[in-house]
Amino acid sequence: MMNKKLKETHVNPHLSVAPKKIRANSCKLVVPKNISDGSRKLAVKYGSKEIEYNLIHVKRKTMEIAVHPDSTVVVKAPLQSDITLIERKIIKRARWILRQLNYFNQFNPKTPDRCYVSGETHLYLGKQYRLKLSEGPENCVKLSRGFFYVTCQNKPTPDITKKLLNQWYLKKAQIQFAQSMDRCWMKFNNLGISKPKLSIKQMQKRWGSLSSRGTVTLNTNLVKASKECIDYVVTHELCHLKHNNHSPEFYELLNSVIPSWEKIKHKLELSMV
Ligand SMILES: [Zn+2]
Repeated sequence: MMNKKLKETHVNPHLSVAPKKIRANSCKLVVPKNISDGSRKLAVKYGSKEIEYNLIHVKRKTMEIAVHPDSTVVVKAPLQSDITLIERKIIKRARWILRQLNYFNQFNPKTPDRCYVSGETHLYLGKQYRLKLSEGPENCVKLSRGFFYVTCQNKPTPDITKKLLNQWYLKKAQIQFAQSMDRCWMKFNNLGISKPKLSIKQMQKRWGSLSSRGTVTLNTNLVKASKECIDYVVTHELCHLKHNNHSPEFYELLNSVIPSWEKIKHKLELSMV
């Protein structure tokens, strides 16, 4: 039988990733991805709303409902539990679920696939800017008063807009990441290690990495996150110069340099889902 107690969790799946075997110089600063765990996709009606959820039957005594930052609701139920009972429990907690979804949506106002059309919002340094496309004498991107003004020589198309925006992001990333490196390096220059080189590239799965030659590589998309988040990623990589792993000594150093790193990591994961 299902236990009456309903455990509410408010988890970020990316915070609780079990550490895989870590190679030297490899790093777990992963870009959040949607979970895929073979669960069943279901939905339950609540008033005029429909709550979609992923149901997983697991060997456990209590039912657990979790709302993830990517707006998925995951219900873990005991192996034998009846679907009507599960639905009843979900409905009982519907207000809480909707509140969590609402909370996460504020960090997640963007659609997964960008269309590069006027009105759509894009991020820069943790803030949202609305796209305004127009035709003009030259191709350019300007940021002003909450808007990304993209001017195209020809009629603006999503392809051209995307290309111009990406070029703009790369240019800004070079400036912002270099500044971040300077800020963060101040806390490391007395550790007897030499300042690493900085490289920037589009990466699918990582915010940052450190090569065995001591080059810090940052994901261009990181420039969409706040300066605080950029500094956190840079600092994490700089800590690897001293400790080539995620050992307790590594975390000791990270804690001493940014005591609130966990909070910042959480922010980064929420804002960039
Ligand atoms: Zn790492």
